[in-house]
Amino acid sequence: MTIGEFDLIDRYFTRPARRVALGIGDDCALLAPAAGMQLAVSSDMLLEGRHFLSTVDPERLGHKALAVNLSDLAACGAQPLAFSLALALPQAEAGFIEGFARGLFAIADRHDCELAGGDTTRGPLAICITVFGEVPVGGALLRSGARAGDDLYVSGTVGDARLALEVFRGTTALPGEAFEEVRRAMETPEPRVALGVALRGVASSAIDVSDGLLGDLGHILRRSDVGATVEVDAVPRSAVMARQAPALQRVCTLAGGDDYELVFTASPSASAAVAAAAREAGIEVTCIGRIERERGLRLLDRDGRAVVGTFGSFDHFRAAP
Ligand code: ADP
Ligand code: MG
Repeated sequence: MTIGEFDLIDRYFTRPARRVALGIGDDCALLAPAAGMQLAVSSDMLLEGRHFLSTVDPERLGHKALAVNLSDLAACGAQPLAFSLALALPQAEAGFIEGFARGLFAIADRHDCELAGGDTTRGPLAICITVFGEVPVGGALLRSGARAGDDLYVSGTVGDARLALEVFRGTTALPGEAFEEVRRAMETPEPRVALGVALRGVASSAIDVSDGLLGDLGHILRRSDVGATVEVDAVPRSAVMARQAPALQRVCTLAGGDDYELVFTASPSASAAVAAAAREAGIEVTCIGRIERERGLRLLDRDGRAVVGTFGSFDHFRAAP
């Protein structure tokens, strides 16, 4: 069944405004951040064939489209407030849109993040979301705050999304249940919003891992003008990942991407506060190294030997088109 543009917006995307001053239906939405708060704004675009496979379940796609945006708010320690949705669809196919909206609103509601507006057009399938969050004035976590001597942490586990991608590419194989597990990590990542908020005033810098752990850590190092040593065997991984060949584990965990975990730094004097923040957010965090004055990135294995190899992050214009 196909439907018209305005029916589509009315039927699938319009709900009564709750937190925003004015929601869908006018030329602009109106947001009213609380006194003493700054708006944190971030956009992410998802294109078919580039960011997701055409076979993806629409409900999972709806989830992921918002999840990757919420992850940016998490990295800044911002509390989600609202989002806008720009959608290009090849056709207005009810089954697809229904599933997409279900996945989108399920994660939106869990984070109390309201759809406030957007744009809908015909075209190759593309989803662009802009999220708005709130953070106390001057309290946002930034990439630029890491200091020599800080501990380096990562939340959850990393690498599963890349492992799933390798299975899709046919470069490796997994038994059915293990594949379902890593596929879930790739298609329905959980943004670490509660952890980001709990790390306000505790972490000295943060970033979310979208393009690969070491590549994204590199952004912190450059913006903070510092270096780091990472103990690569300490990087947390799932049980499925731990069963893979060592070389594959290294690529997936260090350069995988699509993880949406938080990498952050904190002074050693804040280690108890980091542990408390992790407990409050209900997510494990692991110390994987240390920030140092000497620029650049040094990798050590569990025996303290230097690990060689390039584990660069994903770059849209350097990767094969
Ligand atoms: P305009 O022509 O002024 O750009 P539109 O006709 O594109 O407005 O959209 C009408 C209303 O529907 C606006 O409030 C807009 O924010 C909202 N809207 C359009 N597409 C979407 C969408 N995909 N999700 C949520 N709101 C949308
Ligand atoms: Mg408009």
